Amino acid sequence: MTKRVCIIEGDDAAPEVVRPTVELLEAMELDLELLRPLTGEAAIQAGGDGFPDAAREDVDRADATLFGATSGKTRGAVQHLRSGKQTYANVRPIKWVPGAASPLARPEGIDYVIVRENLEDLYLGIEGDLSELNATIFAERVAGRGVDLGGAGRYALKIITEKGTRRAVRFACRLATQRKLEGRPGKVTAVAKYNLLRQTDGLFVETARDEVARHGEVEYEEFIVDNFAHLQVTRPQSLDVVVMPNLYGDILSDAGAGTIGGLGVAPSGCYGDDYAYFEPVHGTAPDIAGQGIINPTAAILSAVMMLDYFKMPDAARRLESAVASVYADGKALTPDQGGQATTGEFCTAVRRFM
Ligand code: ATP
Repeated sequence: MTKRVCIIEGDDAAPEVVRPTVELLEAMELDLELLRPLTGEAAIQAGGDGFPDAAREDVDRADATLFGATSGKTRGAVQHLRSGKQTYANVRPIKWVPGAASPLARPEGIDYVIVRENLEDLYLGIEGDLSELNATIFAERVAGRGVDLGGAGRYALKIITEKGTRRAVRFACRLATQRKLEGRPGKVTAVAKYNLLRQTDGLFVETARDEVARHGEVEYEEFIVDNFAHLQVTRPQSLDVVVMPNLYGDILSDAGAGTIGGLGVAPSGCYGDDYAYFEPVHGTAPDIAGQGIINPTAAILSAVMMLDYFKMPDAARRLESAVASVYADGKALTPDQGGQATTGEFCTAVRRFM
């Protein structure tokens, strides 16, 4: 059955990775229908918004969206794809491909996935002035902690719900079950600062424990987030599927990307119950925009995740192993990987190995 994909290239250097990724998909002659609404700078120049209604309709008509990254112009797209489509599980694989420029002495065998809860936590962005807090409740709570609520200051709300946590953990469990069939350990690791934030992160791990127990075949462990950060660098090979609240997931998936060759190689997918969108972990890389040297690996591997979501495993493996061959060969790597190839030369090499 034909799958419809909405393409939103994003801002700055992001189109330079999305366009060649789409060209690779086209070259594979898959059963895909591509929708390409006008967005970002082009839409603004045409006198409209960076994410006009027509683009929103295309996102809604599609089975999934392939997205670049935004520096603001296409922010409306991210809001729609995230809160509008309730994509609660942000899946960020951390897998080292031989030939990628890991700074670790022994990156062999790094192959785990971070499932970042994508809609809650501090990312609701609810902040304000301390004076807004109800002093009678909070004055009592902060007494003796060396914080003066009467002075100038700000607060931010960290919100964790049982429902939001449970659906992210359930997603992680299903992923662990699936990976077990592929020979991986089938383990879920829950990560949070539950020793300090007993209410919010406490609820996160309690819910994780309870949900994992419903998936008999899945092993379980817990780490305090600072211990996990250490483990991520010292023994990343021990990890399989890791689930964590939004903020930790954002930070630690960039750290994980660092261990396997950097942001240029880290893909992601954001999944809801009936929609998903796929984007590289990296931002818009404005510092290298227009130079033709941005690494398209993260965007291409995000497209691989999309093909798996569409249940097109043969196509997914074909594209994934072509990328792996380019790294094993080592002759057409981009500057972030220590090579001298342009984005275009890298993609030509991928096509040769396809
Ligand atoms: P954001 O706030 O959206 O994350 P940013 O500029 O802070 O944006 P990135 O865009 O992720 O962060 O870039 C961080 C650094 O990594 C920049 O120096 C950028 O050039 C580099 N970088 C990011 N993606 C790639 C890539 N695909 N190939 C090569 N370098 C990249």
